[in-house]
Amino acid sequence: MPERPTPGLNYRKHIMIRTRFAPSPTGYLHIGGARTALFSRAYARRHGGTFILRIEDTDLERSTPESVEAILEGMRWLDMDYDEGPYFQMQRMPRYKEVLAQLLASGHAYHCYASRDEVEAMREQQRLAGLKPRYDGRWRPEPHKILPSVPTDILPVVRFKNPVEGSVAWHDLVKGPIEIGNAELDDLIIARPDGTPTYNFCVVVDDWDMKITHVIRGDDHVNNTPRQINILKALGAQLPQYAHVPMILGADGERLSKRHGAVSVLQYQEDGYLPEALLNYLARLGWAHGDEEIFDMEQFIAWFNLEAISRSPARFNPEKLLWINQQYLKFADNERLVKLVRPRLEHIVAGIAAEPPLGEVVQLLKQRSGTLTELAEAAALFYRYSEPAKELLEAHVTVSALPALRHLALQFARIEWTKTEINAAIKTAATDFKLKMPEIAMPLRVIITGTPYTPGIDATLALLGRTAVLQRLQRYLDSL
Ligand code: GLU
Repeated sequence: MPERPTPGLNYRKHIMIRTRFAPSPTGYLHIGGARTALFSRAYARRHGGTFILRIEDTDLERSTPESVEAILEGMRWLDMDYDEGPYFQMQRMPRYKEVLAQLLASGHAYHCYASRDEVEAMREQQRLAGLKPRYDGRWRPEPHKILPSVPTDILPVVRFKNPVEGSVAWHDLVKGPIEIGNAELDDLIIARPDGTPTYNFCVVVDDWDMKITHVIRGDDHVNNTPRQINILKALGAQLPQYAHVPMILGADGERLSKRHGAVSVLQYQEDGYLPEALLNYLARLGWAHGDEEIFDMEQFIAWFNLEAISRSPARFNPEKLLWINQQYLKFADNERLVKLVRPRLEHIVAGIAAEPPLGEVVQLLKQRSGTLTELAEAAALFYRYSEPAKELLEAHVTVSALPALRHLALQFARIEWTKTEINAAIKTAATDFKLKMPEIAMPLRVIITGTPYTPGIDATLALLGRTAVLQRLQRYLDSL
């Protein structure tokens, strides 16, 4: 594990900051989840604190080991290490049961024998009466209240005895002050009939046990917060601070989903993004440091603060992500790129020749590729010949260019095979045959590479090698 940075300026003397990322393993590592992890981790790192990974796997129907693996793999790929964990909630069952017993014993929770059907009927009646459907507290013990007699054929749930008076208020570190009346909250089920604890309860016990000081999470959890605070209070626990980060939206203003394109972190890996580019983009999604766009993790951690998180939802912009990726590709180390590009290229061209060296091809193409996939696609022309499409030839190769091309075929056999000499030969041919540069460069490009999009024709031909260039050019001229 890398050394942690020394505590930053805002380091609070007496608080050891502890944050967590608590994904539910019910799919892949979502872009939104990755951003939550990024912010939580940066906050801990910024203050010399501890970042914890906790897998919330109690939803047995939806949680899968593959999804756990996808989350861990995503975290690894993004190089987001953690100081503690991964903790798995399923391994903490005995602890939840212990705390449940504690709440029952202290009178903060009670058994409720109302069956599912009974609760449904209760709700239906409330709806008909124009009331908000809620549990009516029929099994809630109160002084002097006589409870129904305990049925023998029903296993009870455990409900939390939520305060009826007053309100729950907290100062959200992103959203500002929030206050919810207790009258809005009914007695939450914290254990099912089979004794297994429910979601909100596990979160509370974990945040308490793990001494979380700052809960940084998506604002889809704001509604859970007052319930969680009430339970924490009943346990006599110190309350964490909460920072609810607005959701990420698609370009159409709807919550980001598959409809908007890839939302899985590992899909971006597959699509040829660099992890540091994705992180950089995610860091700017709903957080800003002036107009800074490109910065590395170290810089981000040094700058990161909760105050600068936007209160309004950010919109996911795939073009901007692509642009950032391109900036990172430009400056990425060639050897690293070779490793990343080779397997992609092997998908396109079976058996990549040793010449031209892939490192040189990468160096030439990385300036103009948006993704590793694009880079590999562009690199293919150096390792296999694809016959240019007829329409492409018709569009670019004019009759007036043919004499110049024939002349160049002779020149190319003679000159020293360097970018400078190739450039000089093309320029001279253009002058001699009274053509503009593109009028000769485009036919050459299309004939030799099969595509109108390549880097500078001189650099491309130099790297492709004399033999391949002459073969491809001659083959075309012979076909006329
Ligand atoms: N497991 C929850 C989720 O994946 C997060 C819970 C939390 O951060 O408190 O949405």
